[in-house]
Amino acid sequence: MSDYDVIVIGSGAGGGTLVHQLAPSGKRILLLERGDFLPREPQNWLAQDVFADGRYISEDSWDDADGNSFAPQIHYFVGGATKLYGAALYRLRAEDFGELRHADGVSPAWPISYDDMEPFYTRAEQLYRVRGVRGEDPTEPPTSAPYPFPAVSHEPRIQQLADDLAAAGYQPFHAPCGVLLDESNMPFSHCVRCQDCDGFPCLVHAKSDAEVMAVRPALEHDNVTLLTNAAAVSLKTDSGGKAVTDVVVERNGETETHSADIVVASCGAANSAQLLLASASDKHPNGLANGSDQVGRNYMFHNSQAVLALSKEPNPTVFQKTLGLNDFYFAGKEFDHPLGNIQMVGKSQAPMFRGEKPLMTKPAPEWSLEGIAEHAVDFWLSTEDLPRPENRVTLTDDGRIRLTYAYSNEKPKEELYEKLKSMLGEIGMHEGHLLPHHAYLKNEIPVAGVAHQAGTCRFGADPASSVLDANCKAHELDNLYVVDTSFFPSIGAVNPALTAMANAIRVGDHLLERLAA
Ligand SMILES: Cc1cc2nc3c(=O)[nH]c(=O)nc-3n(C[C@H](O)[C@H](O)[C@H](O)COP(=O)(O)OP(=O)(O)OC[C@H]3O[C@@H](n4cnc5c(N)ncnc54)[C@H](O)[C@@H]3O)c2cc1C
Ligand code: SF4
Repeated sequence: MSDYDVIVIGSGAGGGTLVHQLAPSGKRILLLERGDFLPREPQNWLAQDVFADGRYISEDSWDDADGNSFAPQIHYFVGGATKLYGAALYRLRAEDFGELRHADGVSPAWPISYDDMEPFYTRAEQLYRVRGVRGEDPTEPPTSAPYPFPAVSHEPRIQQLADDLAAAGYQPFHAPCGVLLDESNMPFSHCVRCQDCDGFPCLVHAKSDAEVMAVRPALEHDNVTLLTNAAAVSLKTDSGGKAVTDVVVERNGETETHSADIVVASCGAANSAQLLLASASDKHPNGLANGSDQVGRNYMFHNSQAVLALSKEPNPTVFQKTLGLNDFYFAGKEFDHPLGNIQMVGKSQAPMFRGEKPLMTKPAPEWSLEGIAEHAVDFWLSTEDLPRPENRVTLTDDGRIRLTYAYSNEKPKEELYEKLKSMLGEIGMHEGHLLPHHAYLKNEIPVAGVAHQAGTCRFGADPASSVLDANCKAHELDNLYVVDTSFFPSIGAVNPALTAMANAIRVGDHLLERLAA
């Protein structure tokens, strides 16, 4: 008999949510997480420690296509990347599930429709307590329920921006957000509405991350075991190569194996591909579940840019990530192809420019870093990058990740930036507030910015062109599933986490049925 009914590898948006879904079944579940609990310490909220010193970034070293090593901006903790995320919890648009023509080619259809996913989005929004307003976003897909909680309010400067954009004919909306904020009763609110949210861990556990909302509640069930500092290094199969029998784990310097009837990889898109490729065997010479040569391919991470508009007057906003704009998400009158999503990003602080964004300040030498941070209104622009088979994860000779990536859809990315500038120019941003001719600083996100990684094990109907079937089970194995963002056949242009969470609930329902729980 196996040690467990189910082993889930990785405790982030996909794996953590799945374990939460399976926990009440009473089935024996093992959750393996290579990281530890993220320490709760004052540094959680210090920009110098988090951004400049990279306190919570892993020590991993990956190679690019040319064999140059780089440090990926990746975080290994219980809760995965959601520990640091901005908690902007968007649904993909209904059209993202079909084929969409972009400037650089076609974004492929998913094997399931938006209608198939809708009930699971609703459940994910409830589990992660998402705040928002239906009906404001013109691209919003049909929904079966309102947001479970009211939207986070705009602070005055962002409200002004929303009003000015609306007056100019645009359709800004309150961004969907997962923070445990109760603005009607602040003395009892978990969230204190601070400036250190997007890109920071939440010291008071008031962010709807996978540790707080999914893993901790799951651990209240005696049938769920969590092993931290436990990295899965390979998966072993039975002699026929049809079922995973053992998960080989390195924990505290020792190697151990655990068996289960069902094994789920949810290590994040790059690491799940690495695990499957590292599990090559006689029966699976190119890597586990890789007879199609698709494992690791079609890596995506969004064509993203951080844009700072510098205004004459200080921007005193504390929690800035409250506004979104999808007016250019699809082709329209002005553009015959989609551009993408515009949203606010966490309010910049001077130490951030010394860390992840060192190049950004070069065009504004007359400004001190403190001055830039004080006056900036900060935007985040995402354009869809297309799945390309040559954009892929492979292994270096010593088994590390090699990430080969060339950008796609660069024209709409630039058009979205120009559109933002022209919109802000059009509205004067707030009469008399912007610098003459508007000063903008732009930071394009490099390949090391793997926050939105997806693809690498896409699901599909055809085993020749996909790794997983519609239930996220590997075509070639009877008991191996993948539920992190690697199942995405395309990434859309909104943030990916809610889709990983919703899909994990969907796969969870399937597994409960399979286990007859
Ligand atoms: C700074 C930042 C801001 C972001 N903001 C947003 C946002 O506002 N909205 C949004 O939707 N998305 C956001 N994201 C992206 C979002 O967090 C990810 O899309 C999401 O967490 C991906 O879920 P996942 O399950 O695929 O991977 P993860 O959540 O990363 O989980 C993977 C887990 O697997 C573990 N693991 C890896 N390898 C192994 C192994 N071999 N053995 C055991 N465990 C392993 C990792 O430690 C990790 O815990 C942000 C990300 C970052 C970093
Ligand atoms: S804004 Fe709220 S959820 Fe975000 S870090 Fe601050 S207290 Fe935590």
